[in-house]
Amino acid sequence: MPSTVYFASLNDGCSPEEQAEGTKKVFDAAGAQKCISPGDFVAIKVHVGEKKNTTHLDPAAARAVVEKVKACKGLPFLTETSTLYKGERDNAVKHIIHAYRHGFGFEQVGAPFIMADGLAGNSEIEVPIAGELNHSVKIAREIRVADALMIVSHPTGHMSTALGACLKNLGMGLASRMGKMRQHSSMKPRVLLEKCRICGKCIEWCPEGSISRKEGAAYIDTEKCIGCGECLAVCRFGAVEYNWGQDSEFLQKQIAEHALGVITGREEKCFFINVMVNMTKDCDCQGKNQKKLIPDVGILGAFDPVAIDRATLDLTAERNGRNLAELSYRRLSSDIQLRHAEKIGLGTMEYKLKEV
Ligand code: SF4
Ligand code: SF4
Repeated sequence: MPSTVYFASLNDGCSPEEQAEGTKKVFDAAGAQKCISPGDFVAIKVHVGEKKNTTHLDPAAARAVVEKVKACKGLPFLTETSTLYKGERDNAVKHIIHAYRHGFGFEQVGAPFIMADGLAGNSEIEVPIAGELNHSVKIAREIRVADALMIVSHPTGHMSTALGACLKNLGMGLASRMGKMRQHSSMKPRVLLEKCRICGKCIEWCPEGSISRKEGAAYIDTEKCIGCGECLAVCRFGAVEYNWGQDSEFLQKQIAEHALGVITGREEKCFFINVMVNMTKDCDCQGKNQKKLIPDVGILGAFDPVAIDRATLDLTAERNGRNLAELSYRRLSSDIQLRHAEKIGLGTMEYKLKEV
């Protein structure tokens, strides 16, 4: 049976207020309040954008969801996880301060910002799933403790997966550090000799004892390394490098399976919103000011994370000849993540679009 995707159309260059209005419209039209019972902890997943990124999700859309959750007598909080790469969001303290600077503070959105994976990205729960690559996945702990989820995504192109939208926001965005490392395949980090100051932090933190001092720098024994990413997080000198150029098919399938780990068992308590405004070639993790790739489209809402991403691609194709993923990275196919997500039971690519 096809899923319904609710669509509030917006003009190009729409204001934050119009985005908030569109967000509320799709929430109401879909009846998303049915996901929320009085007293529920409601996690609102956002992406606040890296430093210097100006095209990320507007806080007004997040605030609109907060207001809707409060009207249902739920207890909303904005949430995120630490990144693997070095930046403004690689631990909880930096991330929360940065979120505040980007307009996601309590005074601005009306809800606290609580990291789902703890101070250093290693607070997690292992969730059993029926995947093709995994029998279980490591998900940020608080996201599984929350009663209901509102996933607010800002679709963009992506250099490794062609599309970064709802599925990626779920699968990568809500995995713990270890879960993220697993998705990024079997690549192991290495120490850049010229940057290492032999401070010993990574040696102290490595859970496998894989790091030692060797020839004036830290040295990673790749046989012992389990790819947890702790050394990346704790090195304050940018001396730990990770090879991000991994296999796109593997990565997209892993994203879909981790997304399944986020929502499995509480499918009725999840609502997905894609804010199709200021869409760019690269994702919001890029710490740079990007140019908008295509005109704004509007807001989508659905109970199906596969259908909403399919509709995102189709609507952008309809208006621009090629879809957002193709316009961004033609050498990659974003269909892999959608097909795999459908195969493992996350949702369906068949949908009806209902304009609201
Ligand atoms: S990735 Fe984890 S196991 Fe591997 S060296 Fe770094 S801290 Fe140790
Ligand atoms: S934490 Fe960084 S600087 Fe310190 S020893 Fe490890 S790699 Fe070198």
